[in-house]
Amino acid sequence: MLVIGITGSIGAGKGSIVNVLKKSGFVHFSAREFLVEKIKELGLDVNRDTMTLVANRLRSDQGNDFIARGLLEKAKKENNNCVIESIRNVKEIDYLKENTQFILFSIDADIKTRYKRIKARKSETDNVDFKTFVANDQREMDSKDENKQNIRSCMERADFTFLNNGTMEDLDEEVKKVLAIIQHKERPSWDKYFLEIVSVVAKRATCNRGRSGCVIVKDKQILVTGYVGSPNGLPHCDEVGHLFKKMIDDDGNVSNHCVRTVHAEQNAICQAAKRGIALDGATLYCTMTPCRTCAMMIINCGIKRVVCQNKYHSGSETEQLFKDSKIVLDFVCNDVLKYDNQ
Ligand SMILES: [Zn+2]
Ligand SMILES: [Zn+2]
Repeated sequence: MLVIGITGSIGAGKGSIVNVLKKSGFVHFSAREFLVEKIKELGLDVNRDTMTLVANRLRSDQGNDFIARGLLEKAKKENNNCVIESIRNVKEIDYLKENTQFILFSIDADIKTRYKRIKARKSETDNVDFKTFVANDQREMDSKDENKQNIRSCMERADFTFLNNGTMEDLDEEVKKVLAIIQHKERPSWDKYFLEIVSVVAKRATCNRGRSGCVIVKDKQILVTGYVGSPNGLPHCDEVGHLFKKMIDDDGNVSNHCVRTVHAEQNAICQAAKRGIALDGATLYCTMTPCRTCAMMIINCGIKRVVCQNKYHSGSETEQLFKDSKIVLDFVCNDVLKYDNQ
């Protein structure tokens, strides 16, 4: 999953870049929509003042990376390339760089061109005269308080910068060129290569609690694949809903588990059994920490290494089991994968 963030001055054309990326299959997330939701929850009017006020207050109350955390959580559920519009604080960039494959785009244009653009789009937040526009622009660009938005510092951190004084077609072409560079410049490592295949396999999953995939590999070759789904011929969660069972942990914590499905790891192991393929000494790639049952099966298959994209919310037992069985367990990202009604 590649996440592209967009920062830039007011009216520079962040939305235009989003449109190009959407056409290339990116799923769109907007910091603005996220904030509008929060402002409406607080019963306030939506305008540029409340946008700035609420954003700054959320950052000081809940951490500078609050918006980035919320949006990345949503993005991860998509299991697809995503674009996050309107990055306005450097801590958000730090958070995204640490927690996902993240590239920052910046866009700018002459201030008069930008003013013309915002007047033309007639949104609730942009109904201001030129003087107010210049003042707002300065305020958002240059705050020294690290809890506040500081667009200029964000723009300085960009991996790619676009100057949008020309036509839509010019910008469209520039973005497409950069996209081609990003998507082809890196030859992925073996781990990255197999994990990307896991994310494609996972698209066939039929239970949205994790949408897991699995690929089992030996000597850099794929032996089998699997994704979470009901046993052959039985109805899927996506058709008839989940089949929940409550689990009570020793500490009294109650969690819900969907038991309708065969897990991705189990399906891969079943495929090996069906075709007579030995998994001894293999490496297993998967979406998140395998559950206890899968972990026990992995141990008994003779699998020697497990690579997970993310952590599972109750994966600690598995971590201990693998440690005791001398199975190497690696995580690409230490974030816990979240889904509804966990
Ligand atoms: Zn389910
Ligand atoms: Zn499992």
